Formats: sequence, C-alpha cells, structure tokens
Amino acid sequence: MTAASLMPTYQPLPISFARGEGCRLWDLDGQEYLDAAAGVAVTGLGHAHPRIVEAIREQAGLLLHTSNLYGIEWQQRLGERLAALSGLEKAFFNNSGAEANETALKLARLYGRHRGIEQPLIVVMENAFHGRTLGTMAASDTSSVRLGYQPLPGEFIKVPFGDLAALTTVTQGFGQRICAVLLEPVQGESGVRVAPTGYLRALRDWCTRHAWLLMLDEIQTGMGRTGRWFAHQHEGIVPDVMTLAKALGNGLPIGACLARKAVADLFTPGSHGSTFGGNPLVCRVACTVLQVMEDERLVTNAAVRGEQLLGLLRASLAGHPCVKEIRGRGLMIGIELAQPQRDLMLRAAREQRLLISVTRGTVIRLLPPLMVSSEDVVAIGEGLSRLLLAARVVGKRVAFC
Ligand SMILES: *Cc1c(COP(=O)(O)O)cnc(C)c1O
Repeated sequence: MTAASLMPTYQPLPISFARGEGCRLWDLDGQEYLDAAAGVAVTGLGHAHPRIVEAIREQAGLLLHTSNLYGIEWQQRLGERLAALSGLEKAFFNNSGAEANETALKLARLYGRHRGIEQPLIVVMENAFHGRTLGTMAASDTSSVRLGYQPLPGEFIKVPFGDLAALTTVTQGFGQRICAVLLEPVQGESGVRVAPTGYLRALRDWCTRHAWLLMLDEIQTGMGRTGRWFAHQHEGIVPDVMTLAKALGNGLPIGACLARKAVADLFTPGSHGSTFGGNPLVCRVACTVLQVMEDERLVTNAAVRGEQLLGLLRASLAGHPCVKEIRGRGLMIGIELAQPQRDLMLRAAREQRLLISVTRGTVIRLLPPLMVSSEDVVAIGEGLSRLLLAARVVGKRVAFC
C-alpha cells in the first residue's frame, strides 16, 4: 500500500485496520488492539454497534438523499431530540465540525448586524481549535493550523482561556463591536485543558449582561464525552449557540449548529445551506446514536468509567518523572508529559496494542468509546503504565530505554 496518491496532510502510522467491534480493532494481519482513542472522540458507541449497523442497512435500502429542497423527516426528529437534550430549540445540520462552527460564526455576524454593529467582532480563546476552513482557522490559535495561510479572515479577538479579568480588558477596548464569544468548554486539541470551575457560569452571566452570544464548541466535549450530555451542563448553564459533530454520527459525517430560537431565526430562506447536510441516512443514524446512548446509559458510564480511569492513572503514574500532570473530565483525559515524545502512538500500538492519541507532542489524550467496560479501563491503565515505565526524561525530550 502506498500513500503516493494522497496529499501529504497527514503522516499516518504504518498500521491499517480491517474491522472493529466495541472497543477492539483488528489490523490487516489480524492483530488485535484496544481502542482508547475512538477515532478522535467519534465512535462513542464503539465499532460496529449492531443497532447502528442495522439503521444504516435499513435506511440505505430506503433513501439516502433528496436534498433540503424537500422535507426530511429524520432531520426534524433529530432536531427535536437535540432540542430536548440541550434546551436549544433550533438546529442546522451539515457534514463536519468546521462547518458547524462556520454556521455559528455566520449566525454571530448576523446577530451583530441585528444589534446594529457594523463591524461585529467575536472573542475567541488562546489555544483554541475550531477547525480547518479559513474562518474556523482564523478563530483557532494553533500556529501549525494557521501557518502559511495568511491572510486569514480577521474579526477575532483572542483572550486567555479561563481568565475572566482578560474579558474586562477587551470589553473596554472593543466593547461596542463585540457580538459573541466562542470557546471549547474543555480545550481538546491543545491538550485537554478543562475550564476552571465557575468560568462558564461567569461567562454566561457576562454574555447575558453585555448581550453577547455565548457560543460553545462542543464538537469534542459533547455527546456524553465528559460525563454529561454536554460539558456545559456540569455548570448548569445553557449557551445561546452550540456546535456538535464528531460522536453525533458515530462515524458517519454529520455536524450540527444548535441555537436559541430568537438567534436561529436570524437566518432566512437562502441565507445559509448545505447540499448533503442533514440527509436521511446521517440523521437517522444520529437519532439511533442518541437512542442507544439513552438505552445503554452511556452518559453515566462515561462519568463512572472516566473517574475510574483518572483514578487508576493517578495511582500508577503520579510522581513519574516524565509525567507533569494528569487531568480530564469524564472520558476525556490528558496525561501531560514533562517533555515531548515523538513516537508514543506507534509505541503504544506496537508494544501495548493500545491506540491512543497524542496532541501537541506532549499530551497523551485518552478518548475511549463511551461504552468502555471496567475491565477495559483497567487494561488501558495498565497498558499506559507499562508504556511509560520504560520512559525517561533525557535533556529536552522523553526517551525510552
Ligand atoms: C474536531 C474538532 C473540530 C473540527 O471538526 P472537523 O469535523 O474536523 O471539521 C472543531 N472543534 C473542535 C473542538 C474539535 O475537536
């Protein structure tokens, strides 16, 4: 197999998978792996869940696509189910996280204009990641994401994540022009950084007081990942706008932008759209995902298994010279290493048959499927302990002996 025909945007590991089941994957040689990455927080129900397989089979034999020029019953049902779970009355569906965030950014612009702001500004966070389109890249703060693509669409103000006082400063500077703030409740790509307790609640109050939209990117943190349906529910708040993608389709591409009715109704027929967005197949599968999550109590499982995994990791790795911090919420856990390590993912896969994700070079990110069992949590914890047992800090990097 060669990747010569593909644009070199990724540097994939020399491992390819043939099939999966639950938390297990098998490579082309039949070797078994334990999946603690879930395709970057996508396959929350695990691989090949029988009800998802059945929903895809049945819908594929009925109808895949008609376009949004006609009513799509599954889309309406999905919108209603998400509204009941989130308190946000209206949904727009598209095909990815970046598109969902683009929808949110466009809504914020309309909202700004509606408030009489001619040049509306959106506040974003340092170390944020919101996607790879020009707009979401401009809203992101990862140099590797932005490098070489300037000029980017402007109109974003960056503040430190978790720092309320910083908001006061930008408000004094740009107050009249700000229409919204966009952030991840737990920053994922930049290394599982959890917002300080009380921060989202304070932001909610701030936004209400200044008539800014509170827009939460829950593409990674939503759909049960942190032990609640949506991470902001840990603080008992409701945002004005929320974006979802990743686990919503359990592997089928679907993104969603949800909003309060008054905000959502700033869109008018023709003001936004998507050819594939919300087709019968993806919407039916997403409805099935929500139903399975409820029937199998996966949100609770994520909370319980997340506590278990965090506890195990802290017990076995605390004080390890290579480990700087272990943090997380629910089944979104980061182990920050003291120094970067380049081939951790390959080592974990080859030596421990464990699939992990590593972000920013120094943070091992664990995102196991939400249906992970207690036994598999123990296996993940043990695999990581064994992996890091042989690790040492050598100068400015982590090395293995
Ligand atoms: C993955 C991710 C995105 C981008 O989603 P795509 O489907 O890759 O476009 C945006 N925001 C957050 C927080 C993410 O984790």
